[in-house]
Amino acid sequence: MQKWTLTLIIYISLFQLCQAQSTRHFEEAIYKAQIEELRNEFGQHKTIPPEIELAALVALSHYPELKNARIKFKLRSIKATMAAAPTWYFVFQRKKKRRYIISVASDPKKRKAILPLDLDFNEQIGVIGHELGHIAWYEQHRIWPVIRFGLGQASEKFRARTEKETDRVAVAHGLGWQLHDLRVCTNETCNPPPGFREMKEKIYLSPTEIKAAIKEWEQTKQ
Ligand SMILES: [Zn+2]
Repeated sequence: MQKWTLTLIIYISLFQLCQAQSTRHFEEAIYKAQIEELRNEFGQHKTIPPEIELAALVALSHYPELKNARIKFKLRSIKATMAAAPTWYFVFQRKKKRRYIISVASDPKKRKAILPLDLDFNEQIGVIGHELGHIAWYEQHRIWPVIRFGLGQASEKFRARTEKETDRVAVAHGLGWQLHDLRVCTNETCNPPPGFREMKEKIYLSPTEIKAAIKEWEQTKQ
């Protein structure tokens, strides 16, 4: 078994010990009423545009290990729906000092992906939950594995393996149903742009696979 996979399995197993369970549906109005508490508890060291703040805070509340991570969400013109990466100068920084950017596609004219701002509340939590899974992994790794991960993006096989593993990290953080709803939307119901659905099916877990992963994860907790 590769070291990368082994680390991830240990990490997920440790997390399972302290995580409660998957929530089927987050009711936006309930969390809106708690936004101040969420900001105080999970919004430290984070910069989040108001459009996605609530969904980001709910997703962050499932990643308590990222409380001290410096994360900036930025609305940008990018091809993917969302993308998470450390700032380029991370190579000169100690792990504790790293900063991360989560780029959020927001340009309707360059529409190659489903835009997060068009997603509903739970689907937004799903996509952010996946991106936080990447940051949780970056936080566990030093410079070279992170650089290798970046270089690996050129290989579809590497991407399919690591993206599916990142989906499982989101499931193990109790956000499986939100990821499931996101994939139903991106693969089926939300009129994805040409080529987008095919890419999602190749690289990420399908809604059926996510349901199986949730079941598997919940069974391991009993
Ligand atoms: Zn990803």
